[in-house]
Amino acid sequence: MSDKDHPDWATATQAIRAGSQRTPFGEHSEAMFLTSSFVFDSAAQAAARFAGTEEGNVYARFTNPSVQMFEQRLAVLENTEYCLATASGMAAITTACMGLLNAGDHIIASKALFGATVQLFVNILSRFGIETTFVDGVSLDAWEKAIRPNTKLFYVETPSNPLTEVIDIQALSDLAHKHGILNMVDNCFCSPALQKPMDFGADLIIHSATKYLDGQGRVLGGAICGPKQLLKDKILPVLRTAGPTLSAFNAWVLLKGLETLNIRMKAQSDSALEIARWLEAHPAVDRVYYPGLASHPQHTLAMKQQKSGGAIVSFEVKGHGEEDCRAKAWNVIDHSKTMSITANLGDTRTTITHPATTTHGRLSPEAREAAGIKQGLVRLAIGLEDTGDLIADLKKGLG
Ligand SMILES: *Cc1c(COP(=O)(O)O)cnc(C)c1O
Repeated sequence: MSDKDHPDWATATQAIRAGSQRTPFGEHSEAMFLTSSFVFDSAAQAAARFAGTEEGNVYARFTNPSVQMFEQRLAVLENTEYCLATASGMAAITTACMGLLNAGDHIIASKALFGATVQLFVNILSRFGIETTFVDGVSLDAWEKAIRPNTKLFYVETPSNPLTEVIDIQALSDLAHKHGILNMVDNCFCSPALQKPMDFGADLIIHSATKYLDGQGRVLGGAICGPKQLLKDKILPVLRTAGPTLSAFNAWVLLKGLETLNIRMKAQSDSALEIARWLEAHPAVDRVYYPGLASHPQHTLAMKQQKSGGAIVSFEVKGHGEEDCRAKAWNVIDHSKTMSITANLGDTRTTITHPATTTHGRLSPEAREAAGIKQGLVRLAIGLEDTGDLIADLKKGLG
């Protein structure tokens, strides 16, 4: 928190005001500090800054005021002591793992993770002696059974993508802590406007700021939120030395994005709920996956953990066999005039995707089946357009 932050601010106010620092010029909007290094008053001050005996900026790979304002604001929003910003969401996950883990350590992760996160665990961390076991995220029993003496980290995304399975963060944190394990939650889909994993015992929170925190599809960014000492001792040295630093320009764009986070998440999830209800009542739709619907298997848990169902809605079209289902799903996608056919999410522009042939296209048919990704499945990431215009798109494609 900066000196001006008010401890009682609600999320909407935090998202606009927390962490702001003003220069003597008195600018109202935060300044963008495009500088790679910082000057010192004297040789003695330079020596003190380098030795760490005096606080202050040295070099932008270590600190930059625009980046620090973003970090402070996100830490306040997530109810964590501290936050470290990174160049992307993947940089956040990589940096956190490099900081917290050693060769010989073991991770347990939920199966339904962002594709690149799976690649990082399976293809890259494994080369450095870190092994990952993937489990059915909603089964607490599966997590417990997978625990080994060298398990150091739980890694979870909730709600999951694209089937919106909701995992009980508190129950998972309790299990982790019983075994001296850290519970790391990727809070990308909800953002702190809808879910604060820290309130449910999580130890560390990962963000792809590229998604809802920016919210307008402009820049890449990431963050790790958590306890100050742990982040400073374990993760900061990797960030400073390896250099996956967030740029000042991107930090500034993200600060502007955060100002509208609360109102965007509310409007986007209101629209998503209306669309999910409309889809559920449509005769050509077999099933809708949306935590805000009473029909969602973990609806009660979702409403305890999240402020709303979020902005991701997935649904299966009815059809006769795989080929027919795929043709019908593609037909919905190809009829969309307003929605963008792209796999990104978290934008003001609604996106529509066919997971089985895009994001999950490289999985074997068996692995895809196990993940529950059917050929009739369509994923929507609802943006800020008029809900009626989005429904009109779907109506044409569903016939
Ligand atoms: C996009 C995404 C990431 C990776 O973020 P980048 O900013 O693209 O590196 C990680 N986790 C989730 C859930 C994501 O959607």
